Amino acid sequence: MKLTIVAGARPNFIKIAPITKAVLNTQSNGKSITYRLVHTGQHYDKKMSDTFFEDLNIPLPDINLGIGGGSQAEQTAGIMIEFEKELIKNPTDLVIVVGDVTSTMACSIVAKKLGTKVAHIEAGIRSWDLTMPEEINRMVTDSITDYFFTTSRVANENLNNMGIPEERIFFVGNVMIDTLLSNIKRLVKPVFFDEINLYKGNYIVLTLHRPANVDEIKKLEATINEIANNVESLPIIFPIHPRTAKRLSGINVFSDNLHIVDPLGYLEFNYLVKNAKAVITDSGGITEETTVMGVPCLTLRDSTERPETCTIGTNELVGTNPKAIKPALLKLFSNEWKKGGLPELWDGKTAERIVNILLSL
Ligand code: UDP
Repeated sequence: MKLTIVAGARPNFIKIAPITKAVLNTQSNGKSITYRLVHTGQHYDKKMSDTFFEDLNIPLPDINLGIGGGSQAEQTAGIMIEFEKELIKNPTDLVIVVGDVTSTMACSIVAKKLGTKVAHIEAGIRSWDLTMPEEINRMVTDSITDYFFTTSRVANENLNNMGIPEERIFFVGNVMIDTLLSNIKRLVKPVFFDEINLYKGNYIVLTLHRPANVDEIKKLEATINEIANNVESLPIIFPIHPRTAKRLSGINVFSDNLHIVDPLGYLEFNYLVKNAKAVITDSGGITEETTVMGVPCLTLRDSTERPETCTIGTNELVGTNPKAIKPALLKLFSNEWKKGGLPELWDGKTAERIVNILLSL
Protein backbone atom coordinates (compact mmCIF):
# COMPACT_ATOMS: atom_id res chain seq x y z
CA MET A 1 0.00 0.00 0.00
CA LYS A 2 1.33 3.41 -1.05
CA LEU A 3 0.37 6.43 1.06
CA THR A 4 0.89 10.13 0.52
CA ILE A 5 0.89 12.01 3.82
CA VAL A 6 0.28 15.77 3.68
CA ALA A 7 1.48 18.30 6.25
CA GLY A 8 1.59 22.06 5.96
CA ALA A 9 1.48 23.85 9.30
CA ARG A 10 2.73 23.52 12.88
CA PRO A 11 -0.13 21.45 14.31
CA ASN A 12 0.06 19.14 11.26
CA PHE A 13 3.69 18.24 11.94
CA ILE A 14 2.78 17.26 15.50
CA LYS A 15 -0.07 15.07 14.19
CA ILE A 16 1.89 13.27 11.44
CA ALA A 17 4.88 12.41 13.66
CA PRO A 18 3.30 9.25 15.16
CA ILE A 19 1.77 8.24 11.81
CA THR A 20 5.12 8.23 10.01
CA LYS A 21 6.55 6.22 12.91
CA ALA A 22 3.71 3.69 12.89
CA VAL A 23 4.03 3.19 9.11
CA LEU A 24 7.80 2.62 9.40
CA ASN A 25 7.29 0.15 12.30
CA THR A 26 4.69 -1.79 10.35
CA GLN A 27 7.05 -1.83 7.38
CA SER A 28 9.87 -3.23 9.47
CA ASN A 29 7.46 -5.96 10.60
CA GLY A 30 7.29 -7.10 6.99
CA LYS A 31 4.04 -5.45 5.88
CA SER A 32 3.88 -3.90 2.44
CA ILE A 33 3.27 -0.23 3.22
CA THR A 34 5.22 2.88 2.21
CA TYR A 35 4.64 6.59 2.43
CA ARG A 36 5.66 9.76 0.68
CA LEU A 37 5.62 12.87 2.87
CA VAL A 38 4.54 16.12 1.19
CA HIS A 39 5.17 19.41 2.99
CA THR A 40 3.09 22.13 1.33
CA GLY A 41 5.25 24.93 2.75
CA GLN A 42 2.24 26.67 4.36
CA HIS A 43 4.37 27.29 7.47
CA TYR A 44 7.93 27.92 6.30
CA ASP A 45 9.55 29.77 9.20
CA LYS A 46 12.17 27.55 10.91
CA LYS A 47 10.46 28.06 14.27
CA MET A 48 7.06 27.01 12.86
CA SER A 49 8.32 24.11 10.75
CA ASP A 50 11.90 22.67 10.74
CA THR A 51 12.11 22.67 14.56
CA PHE A 52 9.28 20.13 14.73
CA PHE A 53 10.99 17.71 12.36
CA GLU A 54 14.09 17.89 14.56
CA ASP A 55 12.31 17.78 17.95
CA LEU A 56 10.01 14.91 16.99
CA ASN A 57 12.47 12.96 14.79
CA ILE A 58 10.16 13.12 11.80
CA PRO A 59 11.93 11.97 8.61
CA LEU A 60 12.40 14.95 6.28
CA PRO A 61 9.63 15.51 3.70
CA ASP A 62 10.12 13.91 0.28
CA ILE A 63 9.08 17.20 -1.28
CA ASN A 64 8.29 20.74 -0.18
CA LEU A 65 5.77 22.48 -2.45
CA GLY A 66 6.99 25.86 -1.20
CA ILE A 67 3.60 27.56 -0.93
CA GLY A 68 3.97 29.97 1.97
CA GLY A 69 2.29 33.31 2.68
CA GLY A 70 -0.48 34.97 0.69
CA SER A 71 -4.21 35.25 1.32
CA GLN A 72 -6.43 32.24 2.03
CA ALA A 73 -7.37 32.04 -1.66
CA GLU A 74 -3.80 32.49 -2.91
CA GLN A 75 -2.59 29.79 -0.55
CA THR A 76 -5.40 27.38 -1.42
CA ALA A 77 -4.87 27.89 -5.14
CA GLY A 78 -1.07 27.64 -4.90
CA ILE A 79 -1.22 24.40 -2.91
CA MET A 80 -3.79 22.89 -5.28
CA ILE A 81 -1.72 23.66 -8.38
CA GLU A 82 1.48 22.22 -6.94
CA PHE A 83 -0.14 19.22 -5.23
CA GLU A 84 -1.88 18.24 -8.47
CA LYS A 85 1.51 18.12 -10.24
CA GLU A 86 2.92 16.12 -7.32
CA LEU A 87 0.11 13.52 -7.34
CA ILE A 88 0.22 13.10 -11.13
CA LYS A 89 3.98 12.50 -10.93
CA ASN A 90 3.73 10.23 -7.89
CA PRO A 91 0.42 8.35 -7.92
CA THR A 92 -0.64 6.83 -4.63
CA ASP A 93 -3.31 4.54 -3.16
CA LEU A 94 -4.44 6.96 -0.48
CA VAL A 95 -3.85 10.59 0.48
CA ILE A 96 -3.80 11.18 4.23
CA VAL A 97 -4.66 14.68 5.44
CA VAL A 98 -4.68 15.74 9.09
CA GLY A 99 -6.36 18.50 11.08
CA ASP A 100 -8.01 21.59 9.65
CA VAL A 101 -5.52 23.87 7.93
CA THR A 102 -5.66 25.21 4.37
CA SER A 103 -3.37 22.39 3.18
CA THR A 104 -5.80 19.80 4.59
CA MET A 105 -8.67 21.14 2.50
CA ALA A 106 -6.70 22.01 -0.66
CA CYS A 107 -4.96 18.63 -0.92
CA SER A 108 -8.10 16.61 -0.22
CA ILE A 109 -9.90 18.38 -3.09
CA VAL A 110 -7.01 17.74 -5.49
CA ALA A 111 -6.75 14.07 -4.53
CA LYS A 112 -10.46 13.45 -4.85
CA LYS A 113 -10.65 15.13 -8.26
CA LEU A 114 -7.80 12.93 -9.48
CA GLY A 115 -9.75 9.89 -8.31
CA THR A 116 -7.48 9.12 -5.35
CA LYS A 117 -9.03 8.06 -2.04
CA VAL A 118 -8.71 10.41 0.93
CA ALA A 119 -8.37 9.65 4.64
CA HIS A 120 -8.91 12.48 7.11
CA ILE A 121 -7.34 12.20 10.55
CA GLU A 122 -9.17 14.29 13.17
CA ALA A 123 -12.34 14.17 11.07
CA GLY A 124 -15.81 15.18 12.20
CA ILE A 125 -15.00 17.83 14.81
CA ARG A 126 -17.08 20.99 14.52
CA SER A 127 -17.15 24.38 16.23
CA TRP A 128 -20.18 25.38 14.10
CA ASP A 129 -18.50 28.78 13.79
CA LEU A 130 -18.14 29.56 10.11
CA THR A 131 -16.17 32.73 10.79
CA MET A 132 -13.22 30.40 11.50
CA PRO A 133 -11.29 29.47 8.34
CA GLU A 134 -10.52 26.13 10.04
CA GLU A 135 -14.23 25.27 10.29
CA ILE A 136 -14.64 25.76 6.55
CA ASN A 137 -11.58 23.58 5.97
CA ARG A 138 -13.09 20.84 8.19
CA MET A 139 -16.48 20.92 6.49
CA VAL A 140 -15.10 20.88 2.94
CA THR A 141 -12.59 18.14 3.72
CA ASP A 142 -15.19 15.94 5.42
CA SER A 143 -17.63 16.40 2.55
CA ILE A 144 -15.27 14.49 0.20
CA THR A 145 -13.28 12.22 2.56
CA ASP A 146 -13.48 8.44 2.09
CA TYR A 147 -12.16 7.26 5.48
CA PHE A 148 -12.78 9.25 8.66
CA PHE A 149 -10.52 8.78 11.69
CA THR A 150 -11.98 10.48 14.75
CA THR A 151 -10.83 11.65 18.18
CA SER A 152 -14.20 11.47 19.96
CA ARG A 153 -17.66 9.94 19.87
CA VAL A 154 -19.09 13.44 19.33
CA ALA A 155 -17.12 13.62 16.06
CA ASN A 156 -18.65 10.28 15.05
CA GLU A 157 -22.13 11.68 15.77
CA ASN A 158 -21.41 14.76 13.66
CA LEU A 159 -20.40 12.52 10.76
CA ASN A 160 -23.44 10.26 11.30
CA ASN A 161 -25.61 13.36 11.06
CA MET A 162 -24.02 14.14 7.68
CA GLY A 163 -25.17 10.72 6.50
CA ILE A 164 -21.70 9.14 6.33
CA PRO A 165 -22.01 5.34 6.46
CA GLU A 166 -20.78 3.83 9.73
CA GLU A 167 -18.25 1.54 7.99
CA ARG A 168 -16.21 4.56 6.81
CA ILE A 169 -15.89 6.11 10.29
CA PHE A 170 -13.24 4.90 12.73
CA PHE A 171 -13.07 6.20 16.31
CA VAL A 172 -9.37 5.73 17.01
CA GLY A 173 -8.35 8.43 19.51
CA ASN A 174 -5.97 11.34 19.17
CA VAL A 175 -2.65 11.36 17.30
CA MET A 176 -1.67 14.65 18.96
CA ILE A 177 -1.80 12.81 22.28
CA ASP A 178 0.34 9.98 20.84
CA THR A 179 3.00 12.65 20.27
CA LEU A 180 2.57 14.10 23.74
CA LEU A 181 2.74 10.77 25.55
CA SER A 182 5.73 9.53 23.58
CA ASN A 183 7.67 12.74 24.30
CA ILE A 184 6.56 13.54 27.83
CA LYS A 185 9.81 12.21 29.31
CA ARG A 186 11.91 14.10 26.73
CA LEU A 187 10.54 17.59 27.41
CA VAL A 188 13.23 20.26 27.58
CA LYS A 189 13.46 23.20 29.98
CA PRO A 190 13.71 26.45 27.97
CA VAL A 191 16.91 28.45 28.63
CA PHE A 192 14.96 31.44 29.97
CA PHE A 193 13.16 29.29 32.59
CA ASP A 194 15.79 29.75 35.31
CA GLU A 195 16.94 33.14 34.00
CA ILE A 196 13.55 34.70 34.78
CA ASN A 197 13.06 32.60 37.89
CA LEU A 198 10.17 30.44 36.80
CA TYR A 199 9.25 27.41 38.85
CA LYS A 200 6.41 24.91 38.90
CA GLY A 201 3.02 26.59 39.27
CA ASN A 202 4.31 30.18 39.45
CA TYR A 203 3.65 31.36 35.88
CA ILE A 204 1.03 31.48 33.14
CA VAL A 205 1.48 30.44 29.50
CA LEU A 206 -0.36 32.52 26.89
CA THR A 207 -0.87 31.79 23.18
CA LEU A 208 -3.11 33.73 20.77
CA HIS A 209 -3.43 33.45 17.02
CA ARG A 210 -7.12 33.39 15.99
CA PRO A 211 -8.50 36.29 13.94
CA ALA A 212 -11.25 36.86 16.57
CA ASN A 213 -8.57 37.75 19.14
CA VAL A 214 -5.66 39.19 17.21
CA ASP A 215 -6.95 40.98 14.13
CA GLU A 216 -8.45 43.97 15.90
CA ILE A 217 -5.56 45.80 17.53
CA LYS A 218 -7.59 47.55 20.29
CA LYS A 219 -9.13 44.24 21.31
CA LEU A 220 -5.78 42.44 21.31
CA GLU A 221 -4.34 45.20 23.48
CA ALA A 222 -7.31 45.00 25.88
CA THR A 223 -7.06 41.20 26.08
CA ILE A 224 -3.36 41.18 26.91
CA ASN A 225 -3.63 44.04 29.41
CA GLU A 226 -6.62 42.37 31.11
CA ILE A 227 -4.59 39.17 31.53
CA ALA A 228 -1.45 40.96 32.72
CA ASN A 229 -3.43 42.93 35.32
CA ASN A 230 -5.27 39.94 36.79
CA VAL A 231 -2.69 37.20 37.29
CA GLU A 232 -1.53 38.36 40.72
CA SER A 233 1.74 39.56 39.17
CA LEU A 234 2.76 36.07 38.06
CA PRO A 235 5.03 36.02 35.02
CA ILE A 236 3.19 35.43 31.72
CA ILE A 237 5.14 33.63 29.02
CA PHE A 238 3.75 34.52 25.61
CA PRO A 239 5.36 32.57 22.74
CA ILE A 240 4.17 34.65 19.88
CA HIS A 241 2.67 33.21 16.69
CA PRO A 242 3.94 35.03 13.54
CA ARG A 243 0.38 36.13 12.74
CA THR A 244 0.09 37.82 16.15
CA ALA A 245 3.61 39.24 16.01
CA LYS A 246 2.62 41.21 12.91
CA ARG A 247 -0.21 42.87 14.84
CA LEU A 248 1.69 43.46 18.06
CA SER A 249 4.36 45.80 16.78
CA GLY A 250 3.38 49.33 17.65
CA ILE A 251 0.73 48.56 20.26
CA ASN A 252 0.90 49.30 23.93
CA VAL A 253 1.02 46.01 25.82
CA PHE A 254 4.04 46.46 28.03
CA SER A 255 3.82 45.12 31.52
CA ASP A 256 6.61 43.97 33.85
CA ASN A 257 5.21 40.46 34.12
CA LEU A 258 4.70 39.91 30.37
CA HIS A 259 7.47 37.98 28.61
CA ILE A 260 7.03 37.85 24.86
CA VAL A 261 9.18 35.11 23.33
CA ASP A 262 9.54 33.54 19.88
CA PRO A 263 7.43 30.46 19.08
CA LEU A 264 9.00 27.57 20.98
CA GLY A 265 9.93 24.09 19.82
CA TYR A 266 7.55 21.30 20.86
CA LEU A 267 9.70 19.94 23.67
CA GLU A 268 10.29 23.34 25.26
CA PHE A 269 6.72 24.53 24.83
CA ASN A 270 5.22 21.48 26.48
CA TYR A 271 7.78 21.60 29.31
CA LEU A 272 6.45 25.10 29.95
CA VAL A 273 2.80 23.98 29.77
CA LYS A 274 3.32 20.95 32.01
CA ASN A 275 4.72 23.11 34.82
CA ALA A 276 2.46 26.15 34.43
CA LYS A 277 -0.17 27.36 36.90
CA ALA A 278 -2.50 27.63 33.89
CA VAL A 279 -2.60 28.18 30.15
CA ILE A 280 -4.61 30.92 28.47
CA THR A 281 -5.06 30.21 24.78
CA ASP A 282 -7.20 30.27 21.67
CA SER A 283 -5.52 27.18 20.21
CA GLY A 284 -7.37 23.93 19.67
CA GLY A 285 -4.51 21.46 20.06
CA ILE A 286 -3.22 23.03 23.25
CA THR A 287 -6.58 22.42 24.99
CA GLU A 288 -6.09 18.71 24.30
CA GLU A 289 -2.55 18.72 25.69
CA THR A 290 -3.55 20.61 28.86
CA THR A 291 -6.37 18.10 29.33
CA VAL A 292 -3.92 15.21 29.28
CA MET A 293 -1.37 16.99 31.50
CA GLY A 294 -4.11 18.14 33.93
CA VAL A 295 -3.18 21.82 33.62
CA PRO A 296 -6.03 24.39 33.95
CA CYS A 297 -6.83 25.89 30.54
CA LEU A 298 -8.75 29.11 29.87
CA THR A 299 -9.83 29.26 26.25
CA LEU A 300 -10.46 32.69 24.78
CA ARG A 301 -13.06 31.50 22.28
CA ASP A 302 -16.86 31.36 22.18
CA SER A 303 -17.00 27.80 20.87
CA THR A 304 -14.85 24.71 20.60
CA GLU A 305 -14.72 21.83 18.18
CA ARG A 306 -13.19 19.79 21.01
CA PRO A 307 -16.02 19.71 23.60
CA GLU A 308 -14.45 16.80 25.49
CA THR A 309 -11.66 19.13 26.66
CA CYS A 310 -14.39 21.00 28.60
CA THR A 311 -16.75 18.18 29.58
CA ILE A 312 -13.97 15.77 30.60
CA GLY A 313 -10.79 17.83 30.64
CA THR A 314 -9.47 20.96 32.35
CA ASN A 315 -10.57 23.42 29.69
CA GLU A 316 -13.18 26.16 30.08
CA LEU A 317 -14.50 28.50 27.40
CA VAL A 318 -14.00 32.05 28.64
CA GLY A 319 -15.11 33.72 25.39
CA THR A 320 -13.56 36.47 23.30
CA ASN A 321 -14.77 39.45 25.34
CA PRO A 322 -11.78 40.78 27.34
CA LYS A 323 -14.18 41.59 30.22
CA ALA A 324 -14.73 37.86 30.80
CA ILE A 325 -11.05 37.31 31.63
CA LYS A 326 -10.99 38.77 35.14
CA PRO A 327 -13.79 36.57 36.60
CA ALA A 328 -12.18 33.47 35.07
CA LEU A 329 -8.82 34.35 36.60
CA LEU A 330 -10.47 35.00 39.98
CA LYS A 331 -11.81 31.46 39.81
CA LEU A 332 -8.37 30.11 38.92
CA PHE A 333 -6.69 31.92 41.80
CA SER A 334 -9.33 30.81 44.30
CA ASN A 335 -8.19 27.26 43.45
CA GLU A 336 -11.65 26.25 42.27
CA TRP A 337 -10.51 24.99 38.87
CA LYS A 338 -11.78 21.53 37.90
CA LYS A 339 -9.34 18.62 37.93
CA GLY A 340 -10.48 16.81 34.77
CA GLY A 341 -9.95 13.31 33.38
CA LEU A 342 -8.75 11.58 30.22
CA PRO A 343 -10.97 11.28 27.13
CA GLU A 344 -11.57 7.77 25.79
CA LEU A 345 -8.77 6.29 23.64
CA TRP A 346 -6.38 9.19 24.22
CA ASP A 347 -3.86 6.55 25.16
CA GLY A 348 -0.86 7.02 22.86
CA LYS A 349 -1.80 4.16 20.52
CA THR A 350 -3.92 5.97 17.94
CA ALA A 351 -1.44 5.97 15.04
CA GLU A 352 -0.92 2.21 15.47
CA ARG A 353 -4.70 1.71 15.30
CA ILE A 354 -4.93 3.89 12.17
CA VAL A 355 -2.21 1.98 10.31
CA ASN A 356 -3.80 -1.37 11.22
CA ILE A 357 -7.13 -0.14 9.86
CA LEU A 358 -5.48 1.17 6.67
CA LEU A 359 -3.93 -2.24 6.05
CA SER A 360 -7.32 -3.88 6.41
CA LEU A 361 -9.13 -1.59 3.94
N1 UDP B 1 3.16 24.66 20.11
C1 UDP B 1 4.55 24.66 20.11
N2 UDP B 1 5.21 25.83 20.36
C2 UDP B 1 4.57 27.00 20.62
C3 UDP B 1 3.14 27.00 20.62
C4 UDP B 1 2.47 25.82 20.34
O1 UDP B 1 5.16 23.60 19.92
O2 UDP B 1 5.23 28.03 20.83
C5 UDP B 1 2.44 23.40 19.79
C6 UDP B 1 1.46 22.93 20.84
O3 UDP B 1 2.08 22.10 21.80
C7 UDP B 1 0.43 22.19 20.01
C8 UDP B 1 0.44 22.91 18.68
O4 UDP B 1 1.66 23.66 18.64
O5 UDP B 1 0.85 20.86 19.82
C9 UDP B 1 -0.76 23.82 18.54
O6 UDP B 1 -0.63 24.59 17.43
P1 UDP B 1 -1.51 25.88 17.14
O7 UDP B 1 -1.97 26.48 18.40
O8 UDP B 1 -0.73 26.71 16.18
O9 UDP B 1 -2.71 25.27 16.29
P2 UDP B 1 -4.17 24.77 16.64
O10 UDP B 1 -4.04 23.61 17.56
O11 UDP B 1 -4.93 25.92 17.21
O12 UDP B 1 -4.72 24.34 15.31
